[in-house]
Amino acid sequence: MTKPEQPLTGAGMDTLAVRAGTCTTVEGEHSEALFLTSSYVFRDSKEAAARFSGEQPGNVYSRYSNPTVRAFEERLAAMEEAESAIATSSGMAAILSTCMALLQVGDHVLCSRSVFGTTTMLLSKYLQKFGVAVTFVAPTDYDAWEAAFQLNTRLVFVETPSNPLCEIVDIQRLATLSHAHDCLLVVDNCFCTPALQRPLTLGADLVVHSATKYIDGKGRCLGGAVAGNKTLTDEILGFIRSAGPSMSPFNAWVFLKGLETLRLRMEAHSRNALEVAQWLNDQPAVEKVFYAGLETHPGHELAAKQQRAFGGVLSFRVKGGQSEAWQVIDSTQILSLTANLGDAKSTIVHPATTTHGRLSPEQRHEAGITDNLIRLAVGLEDVNDIQQDLQRGLSRL
Ligand SMILES: *Cc1c(COP(=O)(O)O)cnc(C)c1O
Repeated sequence: MTKPEQPLTGAGMDTLAVRAGTCTTVEGEHSEALFLTSSYVFRDSKEAAARFSGEQPGNVYSRYSNPTVRAFEERLAAMEEAESAIATSSGMAAILSTCMALLQVGDHVLCSRSVFGTTTMLLSKYLQKFGVAVTFVAPTDYDAWEAAFQLNTRLVFVETPSNPLCEIVDIQRLATLSHAHDCLLVVDNCFCTPALQRPLTLGADLVVHSATKYIDGKGRCLGGAVAGNKTLTDEILGFIRSAGPSMSPFNAWVFLKGLETLRLRMEAHSRNALEVAQWLNDQPAVEKVFYAGLETHPGHELAAKQQRAFGGVLSFRVKGGQSEAWQVIDSTQILSLTANLGDAKSTIVHPATTTHGRLSPEQRHEAGITDNLIRLAVGLEDVNDIQQDLQRGLSRL
């Protein structure tokens, strides 16, 4: 008797994370195969014609499809409870492809004011060039969202928790609002990943990811994805096939294996971040800590409801200004001074002069990016060591 294949219907997320999305060859390898190929060979001209016309399923060219990339897409879709997912060459490529596929000249986009800096740039500088208007809204001001809809609004874009102040947006509420105006809600789920938050189950229409962050989790590869219902993702796939921002099979293989440990890592990042946040809160040189895991955070209850844990990113204001913030950052010996996040290694950065440096002082002020603000993406080191590393600079203030 041959061992029957296990169906995954009804399986839990931990099972899906290691078993959904298969990619095996006749060799019977246990770990998913890496198909490092740009094109595929056909047995005869008849088969080539049938593949090209779509009559016969199968691969033609890796800008169109690749078995390793497909396995990553299937696994991520299963974890997000999405009908379908499409991989892209980066997180920005996922956002660009979504906009290019679903918007046209004359359309209007509503976007949270607190999103990744490059997203702001893409929407305001480049989409405007193609006749798509954008309005930025304070993420937790629901009256402002309601007031900002126009007859031509097609898409609402939000990130929660936001970067770097960890504002928490009510996904269900914003989905209801968006749908009442016939708009699609797109949620950038990069900070939480499906391990902590599943926006589609809360009413969002599409989820976008930068897999570069926690899905890889070790800072090796660039990648992104869009997940949602198949009608929408098929339109986005059409753009990707024409424009070319497809995911490299090698990167897909790294991300596919990353998904297997994602939940364990996200829980450890969250546990460490909470400990560091609580400790920072007690430091006399710290003015304020922004982390939804703290009960004093205005989004704490909502985050506890819509997320499984509070994630790895936090920020804090030191007493003083830029020079005090720089002193704390420059006194660290273990933490990496880099703008990246979602890595096993903790990272520290001064948003006002790096990630948010291109904003005008007024825009920074409005977004709460003060000169004494430090962002920390807590990694997987011993919490004691992270605290001691921060203590060195803080104790000198
Ligand atoms: C990094 C990031 C992106 C962009 O992703 P890339 O993979 O760098 O293109 C988008 N959104 C958020 C929230 C990010 O942190």
